Amino acid sequence: MELRKDPITRSWVITGDDVNEPAPRTQACRFCGPTAQPAQMIATVPGLDGGAWSARSVVHPQALYHIEGEPGRRGDGLYDRMGPVGAHEVLLENPRHDGHLWNVSDAEVERFLRLAAQRIQDLKRDSRFKYISIFKNHGEPAGQEFDHPTSQLTATTFVPRRVLYELRAGRDYFETKERCVFCDILAQEERQGVRILEIRGDYAAFCPFAPRVPYETWILPRSHEAAFERTGSGRVGSVADLASLLRRTLQRIRTVTESFHLVLHTAPNNLHPSSSLGYWKTLDDDYHWHIEILPIVEAKAKSYTFKEVYYSPVASETAVKRLRDAKI
Ligand SMILES: [Zn+2]
Ligand SMILES: [Zn+2]
Ligand SMILES: [Zn+2]
Repeated sequence: MELRKDPITRSWVITGDDVNEPAPRTQACRFCGPTAQPAQMIATVPGLDGGAWSARSVVHPQALYHIEGEPGRRGDGLYDRMGPVGAHEVLLENPRHDGHLWNVSDAEVERFLRLAAQRIQDLKRDSRFKYISIFKNHGEPAGQEFDHPTSQLTATTFVPRRVLYELRAGRDYFETKERCVFCDILAQEERQGVRILEIRGDYAAFCPFAPRVPYETWILPRSHEAAFERTGSGRVGSVADLASLLRRTLQRIRTVTESFHLVLHTAPNNLHPSSSLGYWKTLDDDYHWHIEILPIVEAKAKSYTFKEVYYSPVASETAVKRLRDAKI
């Protein structure tokens, strides 16, 4: 497998013929119970109330990225390619097979969030890694891989395209207004109140003005902060609020659909800032971490429209009403 850069959109893709056969989905869980298989442990967050652990990170059994070596980025005429150096981890959200982020205690969700923050902090110490992604695919249409409650983490030698767009947009807005675009969006949403789903302490959940899918929901801190992984340090109370808001938001979304993608967008690694990408200087002021939840509702998709222009047949103002009124 290797990474190739699309010379037009400048996005990296991972490609090759060396694809692992996906393990057949069985009832047996590889992460718990009598069928558990040995996993290469990376980090563990101690358990609550005497439990052995509450959240832990292991190497992905079919890792797309591998920690050893140098990316060996090289040109091929106008093309760019490099080896899939990085990290690919499975984050076990809970020891219990049925311990999902929406049905466990806030304290358990908080432990998982702390594990996520620790893993990002740890991997950012490796200057080869430009970006750490944390995401969750839940439900068959979302491409869920494991039955056990899990999220995944990748550390990559490049910044993923969607995040690059956000970084550039954040920098451009800051250049003219000297303000963070995410802070401004949230301030306006709080003023207008038509798309705010819930506010809990320093965190807000809202449905974005221009959603890519029906019921798209974002969670972000109301105080400006570029890096998610700094959240846990020092401001102990607020991680609990975030955990609670995340759990409640997922509960609401699950009244509409079981399947969703969740992704955390945080600041890239600026340990060794790239000189060619100019977004580093004001990064701490112009970027603002957030969680995006993209529910998968019964496809009324218009296939062309959906691929080239997002088509979302439920307006955010309608979506937020239904989610607010959900019995949770
Ligand atoms: Zn399990
Ligand atoms: Zn901000
Ligand atoms: Zn984002």
